[in-house]
Amino acid sequence: MATAPTLDDYRKQAGGLSYRNQAFIAGRYVPAASGKTFDCVSPIDGKVLTAVAACEAEDVDRAVAAARAAFEKGAWANAAPARRKQVLRRFAELILKHKDELALLETLDMGKPIRYSASVDIPGAANAIAWYAEAIDKLYDEIAPTDPSALALITREPVGVVAAVVPWNFPLLMASWKLGPALAAGNSVILKPAEQSPLTALRVAELGLEAGLPEGVFNVLPGFGETAGQALGRHMGVDCVAFTGSTEVGKYFLKYAAESNMKTVSLECGGKSPNIVLADAPDLDAAAKAAAFGIFFNQGEVCNAASRLLVDASIKDAFLEKVMAVGARLQPGNPLDPKTHMGAMVDRAQTARVLDYIDQGRADGAELRMGGKQALADSGGCYIEPTVFDKVDNRMRIAQEEIFGPVLSTIAFKAPEEALRIANDTIYGLAAAVWTRDISTAHRMARALRAGVVWVNTYDAGEITTPFGGYKQSGFGRDRSLHAIDKYTQLKTTWINLAR
Ligand code: NAP
Ligand code: MG
Repeated sequence: MATAPTLDDYRKQAGGLSYRNQAFIAGRYVPAASGKTFDCVSPIDGKVLTAVAACEAEDVDRAVAAARAAFEKGAWANAAPARRKQVLRRFAELILKHKDELALLETLDMGKPIRYSASVDIPGAANAIAWYAEAIDKLYDEIAPTDPSALALITREPVGVVAAVVPWNFPLLMASWKLGPALAAGNSVILKPAEQSPLTALRVAELGLEAGLPEGVFNVLPGFGETAGQALGRHMGVDCVAFTGSTEVGKYFLKYAAESNMKTVSLECGGKSPNIVLADAPDLDAAAKAAAFGIFFNQGEVCNAASRLLVDASIKDAFLEKVMAVGARLQPGNPLDPKTHMGAMVDRAQTARVLDYIDQGRADGAELRMGGKQALADSGGCYIEPTVFDKVDNRMRIAQEEIFGPVLSTIAFKAPEEALRIANDTIYGLAAAVWTRDISTAHRMARALRAGVVWVNTYDAGEITTPFGGYKQSGFGRDRSLHAIDKYTQLKTTWINLAR
């Protein structure tokens, strides 16, 4: 019987890995036109994994030209949906076939525990691509109910060249939520991974080609946001930007579009999600476990992290004890150890940012109840203890700003109305949760919460079948579900005069 891999097994495998580190344009790996590279550092131990092509405007020009040429040639855009299905299904299968290698690349690159890259990120990415592959030959167009003297067809067409710009917290998964619908709809795609986490995107580029994507249909440009990202955002030949990342950078893309060609932009941005626990929650142990995983999963580097815990004052102290008991078991460890639940922060800059917020919370008068320090200093990597603040006021910076780290802010309330007011008192609106056994309270609060996703008696549940995205400054447009296809298609009306 095969035994589950151990830390030593993963270390050995990691030692034998080779890295794809060049841009992928028109079906080939190529260096950046400038010849420049940047170091891809592992936050596990601070070591350089490889030097990656630092793409800039000239590379963006080349990739856009390749993507446009492929689109116009039509081998993909005009292929029968059943054909696109076949290729994308094969792409998803190849991702699964290389699951172990891709999971290892993701973990080495950005520090998440191997147990999650192997069970969540990579299978999730394959599933997203397979799901849109399966969907695309089941979507029908429309005929409008016009006067009978006309026949009006309403058809969906791919937008053309799509730039997908993604963050580092779920590198391949966030990319796949865009690749799946964009490619299925017949577009050409240029993917820009975050500079902190380019390795899986670069590896799957060749798997796409192997699966049968024509050259130029799927391109990957590693590089920095200010150069490669901005050049994509401002390019006259890019028709659509699908962005996941911070609210600050999301706003730049609106500006880039306004100052260039009015390309469409969809934005999946930050969050400061409230997790509201009422005194009548059905199972406080389950709620506490969800509250802890909601903020400590993926080191808190989760856009919909349960970063604000709103608890009824009558149960707050007892509930927080339960949350901290779960948190105490989630101490950071080597991400390559399959037993580790909390891994490394993505890099030194993010580590410093999170530690600054912890200082800020203390300075503002919140009570630090757990953690608050860096961990595993000898490793050379970036680790932070699970951290819990109590007595947080919603006006404090730690309650208003996205920390993107394992830092929980606890706020007590006296009545559900007060909880709702606090919950909605934020610029963000990505997700929210309510714990109650009263079904009308649940519905009433779910309706009043200004967020793209509301969970009742659970946290962070979801599938590719359900839309995901934000209200307010968490952005607009939705990933996942058939609704995501709207972002990558435009509607054409063809009006045919039938009168003789
Ligand atoms: P980020 O700094 O906004 O970066 C996201 C992407 O934009 C990266 O590829 C980045 O490139 C690029 N970029 C940065 N500056 C740019 C500029 N001036 N012009 C054009 N592109 C630019 O976000 P992050 O730090 O990677 O990720 C964390 C953020 O993502 C958090 O705010 C989180 O909430 C959000 N997020 C949202 C969702 C969601 O679905 N709503 C999901 C996951 C994450 P470089 O990094 O290479 O510079
Ligand atoms: Mg890295």
